[in-house]
Amino acid sequence: MTRNSRYGFETLSIHAGAGPDPATGARSTPIYQTTAFVFDDADHAASLFNLQTFGYIYGRLTNPTTAVLEERIASLEGGRGATCTASGHSAQMLAFFPLLQPGDEFISSRRLYGGSITQFTRTFKKFGWSGVLVDTDEPENVRRAITPKTKAIFCESLANPGGVISDIEVLAKIAHENGLPLIVDNTMATPYLCRPIEWGADLVVHSTTKFLSGHGNAMGGAVVDSGTFDWGQGDKFPSLSKPEPAYHGLTFTETFGDLAYTIYGHAVGLRDLGPTMAPMNAYLTIMGCETLALRMQRHIENAQAVAEYLSRHPQVAWVSYAGLKGNPYHALAKKYLPKGAGSVFTIGIKGGYDAGVKVVESVDLFSHLANIGDTRSLIIHPASTTHRQLSVEQATAAGAGPDVLRLSIGLESIDDILRDLDQALGQAARLAA
Ligand SMILES: *Cc1c(COP(=O)(O)O)cnc(C)c1O
Repeated sequence: MTRNSRYGFETLSIHAGAGPDPATGARSTPIYQTTAFVFDDADHAASLFNLQTFGYIYGRLTNPTTAVLEERIASLEGGRGATCTASGHSAQMLAFFPLLQPGDEFISSRRLYGGSITQFTRTFKKFGWSGVLVDTDEPENVRRAITPKTKAIFCESLANPGGVISDIEVLAKIAHENGLPLIVDNTMATPYLCRPIEWGADLVVHSTTKFLSGHGNAMGGAVVDSGTFDWGQGDKFPSLSKPEPAYHGLTFTETFGDLAYTIYGHAVGLRDLGPTMAPMNAYLTIMGCETLALRMQRHIENAQAVAEYLSRHPQVAWVSYAGLKGNPYHALAKKYLPKGAGSVFTIGIKGGYDAGVKVVESVDLFSHLANIGDTRSLIIHPASTTHRQLSVEQATAAGAGPDVLRLSIGLESIDDILRDLDQALGQAARLAA
């Protein structure tokens, strides 16, 4: 299906980037389970290697199944192009790779998926990249943290573990006033609930592992470029604006225009760092995208019902869900996620650590595991799992105090979800009595 069409979101989620297979007429996108692609002749091979012809060379750079998914996600986000990767974390690495040199900095919201905090503040240090975390609830903190070394600003649209929403439009304005791109992790919202590019974001990253694949069966990530940021300004982004020795002095911005960032992501990012998405996972994620709208509708409907039920439950001290009136982020939710505030959120259970452990051991329908965005309802007690290395003070600051449970509400019958939570909370209450 061609780009720039006026098709609706549901139509694009099924058709964008795909047509019947040119070789066989297969209607569903085939899994091109191959490592390499045969050249027509030596000239064809040379022009592919020089990036003079679009085509397939070797699976680390591009693959036709993955290319369909890239076009699909770019189109759902309203972007120019996308690069798929092996995981959400590698998408983040690839998103920063064209922008940062050793010694450079980026500013990020400190309300992030826990793994991203570790990646930004510890592992990226080994590349000489500094992730500076600030409280973006006060967006001026971002402006104050900008230095001549700052190359990007990062936030999550709807922050994991939930309840927190970034003011994307304000952050984009601060970024652009300083000649910087805004990168938004849109994993928890998905483009069905929020399209950050429409609010000024320049790049969008995803862990497709979560709602886009949607069935808890395929790791993956994506970097989407809006195609509108000027990478050529000054000397800020030399990877994109200066001649690339590994491609005979080709300059990405001059040669590829608004596709420069996306082509760099494949031709240098995937080529040299290597976190390529497997074609099988691309296929599973394409299948997930086709039902994204339907699944997200049920996810948010069920999550809203669970949040309302738990906010009245005697065993529950608090519920952090932006879809609830009175939540501090409710106004931002109405602006940025008018359809619903996602399906992942945290609650505080009365009875602290032991009660939290008892709930995850007592659920029957819910799965006790470290993931979100599955058809199945999921639960985790961060203090005894993902955040157990931290002190109580550190864990509490990260929103993972001893009483916190994180829920990812699935697509099961709502009565069954509520009954399971109620019986597990009841068992925790009997423990305390
Ligand atoms: C899971 C997640 C990631 C990391 O993605 P992986 O696919 O697990 O590598 C990044 N950001 C957010 C918001 C996530 O939920």
